[in-house]
Amino acid sequence: MNYEGYKKTGISEKVYNFGEIILKDLEERFKEIDEIAEYNQLKVISAMQKNRLSANHFMATTGYGYNDEGRDNLERIYKDTFHTEAALVRPQITCGTHALAVALGANVRPGDEILSPVGKPYDTLEEVIGIRDSIGSLKEWGVSYRQVDLINNADFDYEGIKNAINEKTKLVTIQRSKGYQTRETLSVKKIGELIKFVKEIKPDVICMVDNCYGEFVEKIEPSDVGADMIVGSLIKNPGGGLAPIGGYICGRQDCIDQCAYRLSAPGLGQEVGANLGIIQSMYQGFFLAPTVVAGAVKGAIFAANIYEKLGFKVVPDGKVTRHDIIQAVELGSAERMIAFCEGIQSAAPVDSYVTPVPWAMPGYDDDVIMAAGAFIQGSSIELSADGPVKEPYAVYFQGGLTWNHAKLGILMSLQKLYEKGLVDEDKMN
Ligand SMILES: *Cc1c(COP(=O)(O)O)cnc(C)c1O
Repeated sequence: MNYEGYKKTGISEKVYNFGEIILKDLEERFKEIDEIAEYNQLKVISAMQKNRLSANHFMATTGYGYNDEGRDNLERIYKDTFHTEAALVRPQITCGTHALAVALGANVRPGDEILSPVGKPYDTLEEVIGIRDSIGSLKEWGVSYRQVDLINNADFDYEGIKNAINEKTKLVTIQRSKGYQTRETLSVKKIGELIKFVKEIKPDVICMVDNCYGEFVEKIEPSDVGADMIVGSLIKNPGGGLAPIGGYICGRQDCIDQCAYRLSAPGLGQEVGANLGIIQSMYQGFFLAPTVVAGAVKGAIFAANIYEKLGFKVVPDGKVTRHDIIQAVELGSAERMIAFCEGIQSAAPVDSYVTPVPWAMPGYDDDVIMAAGAFIQGSSIELSADGPVKEPYAVYFQGGLTWNHAKLGILMSLQKLYEKGLVDEDKMN
């Protein structure tokens, strides 16, 4: 049908046709994803209308940023969209790790304990918490940490969690997305069940959800099922590909107050922090986020079904309902990982001529390979692939500002594997 256009990109007819066969079976699922996007779009628009968003809110502020209405209204819109009492959404939050470090650090005191009932947290949080010794970690400040692993990488160890909660437990951190692990991503419903269980044992414990990569994938967010704080990065889902920097923390007023005083300074809190003229892209990105996320979810499902058919282990599998935008594909060799990433890179609108190579990235334990050709540097709501170069050689694939670009990237990843003889051709019929 459309092969004519793909011909110029270097995608072979064999790869293209294989993609079309896979897509035929995905029509129903894509319709469901569009319906979720529609629902979430209405949530965002309603919040913008309720807060009477207007052109005045797009004005740049500099210096201290006192009375920055644009900044304050964006925070109201976030809090109304995610149904929380308060929100902190700012360019001064530099990334997801920073947002999480603020949310954690602000809400504990020396002698308190943090519990992760869902196994090991995201790599960069190991240093924040002090699981790996690091300068300035919470461990250095006398905050201890406990972890209860999932059973079979999937189910909560309720008995273990019950035993782990003690008089010191102040905050429970729950990571929605699997990150660089091959466990399942938690559904919002499942997160709700976990929070309920924890609160029954200790009602005053703060439940924080690392919501990175999860925003707008479902119709509800963890804040709808009892989370006291949800935390994420604006160069992922809620930035919609337009926010050039930033993070958010939405939740209970008292928790957010703590975060604000930690982020700026005691006594200053949310009153300072100029928007530096990027506030319009933060609004506009949030407005686009539900549809951008839908495109990314379609890409993840397409990739899962392609690589599953080719005999690779994919997490999640091609059939299951999605709770984040990440797709892991276990490629089984460094060679295949590199070819996959080369494909993603060469399909990018930016830096398509660059060849990705593994490197020792700060905050990560192993060499990491990353493919991304993004308008916003490091943005992973844009089509990107990355992963630590170690067993099982899993590449984590995510993003795509448009479904059409995600499709091209996935076909191109396969094209590279196909050209190098790294896939079983017989499975492509
Ligand atoms: C990306 C991510 C983070 C860290 O966000 P950065 O913006 O990379 O610092 C934390 N947790 C999860 C689950 C993530 O996916």
